[in-house]
Formats: sequence, C-alpha cells, structure tokens
Amino acid sequence: MKKKISEKLIYRMYDNAYKSFDRLTPLLFDCGELCNARCCKGKDGMYLFPYEEIFIGSHWENKITYIKNDIPLLICDGICQREHRPLSCRIFPLFPYIIDSKLKVDFDLRAKNICPLQFNDIAEIQIQKKFKRKVYRVFKKLIKNKDIYDFCSRISEEILFLEKFY
Ligand code: SF4
Ligand code: SF4
Repeated sequence: MKKKISEKLIYRMYDNAYKSFDRLTPLLFDCGELCNARCCKGKDGMYLFPYEEIFIGSHWENKITYIKNDIPLLICDGICQREHRPLSCRIFPLFPYIIDSKLKVDFDLRAKNICPLQFNDIAEIQIQKKFKRKVYRVFKKLIKNKDIYDFCSRISEEILFLEKFY
C-alpha cells in the first residue's frame, strides 16, 4: 500500500492499539486452554490492517505476503513472541465491522468453525464486556484513518457475504 501518512503517526497509532491488548484478553483465563489454541494452528494467516506491516514487519521477516493485490497477510508457524503478535490476533475472535457506515464489534464469523467463544449461552466462556468495549474504542480511533476505515468496510462485506457458506 502506498504510504499516505507519516511513519511517526503509524507507530503512534499501532503502539497505542497494541498496548491496549497487552494484558486484556477475551476471557479472564487463557482461552487457548479451551481449544488447544486452535486459532494459532491454521495456515491461512492473518490479515494485517493498513500500515501495520510498517509497525511490525521487522519482527516478521519473510512471513508477510501480499494477497488480493494489496492486503498484507502474516503467516506464522503457530508460535510467536507474544509482544509482536499482530492486531488481528490481539482482538480475535472479534472483528470491527463497518456496517451502514457504523462501527460494530462482533464475533468474527470466519472463526465459526474453530472458536468456542461464539457460544454466548455458556456463562464461563462469555467474552468479557470490557474486552469488547476496548476493541470498539481502539477501532473508533483507528478508523479515523480512511485507509483503515475502507479496509474494515471491505473485509466486513467479504465476511458478511461469505456468512452463508460458514
Ligand atoms: S480465540 Fe477462540 S480459537 Fe482462539 S484460542 Fe481462544 S477460544 Fe481458541
Ligand atoms: S501470530 Fe502468534 S497469536 Fe497470532 S496466530 Fe500466530 S502464534 Fe497465534
């Protein structure tokens, strides 16, 4: 992606976003214990948000590829240094949907086949409200950048289109 904002701003945006999830996770305990960390076992990779590769690319040399012409995709080996995991992993299994021009944070339907946290009728595995609120607040700021807004809109459309196939 052609860079339209300064590196300083990119670092500030993503540094703040990453720090928001340094200690805050979907559940109070490690949800990987429920499913043997299935979301780290896939080979599909995680999208990086616009400009995020500039922020963490140096920690993931040769692990970032580009698909659909322009979307950076990080393919890990199922292990990472936690402090360098990308934003998609930090907010998983939620996604910042843009629907009718509005931000809505909800379960990422692409995780339907793997993630037990979709079952919101089991009290012990309810995603913490403060985690969801934090994802909302972080993206409320991030989508002020038009490229991030457009990216979230585009991926929201894709997810909702594919919903019928999940
Ligand atoms: S987010 Fe879902 S799939 Fe990933 S470790 Fe937690 S429970 Fe498992
Ligand atoms: S980058 Fe880390 S957190 Fe994300 S899928 Fe890979 S091992 Fe899991």
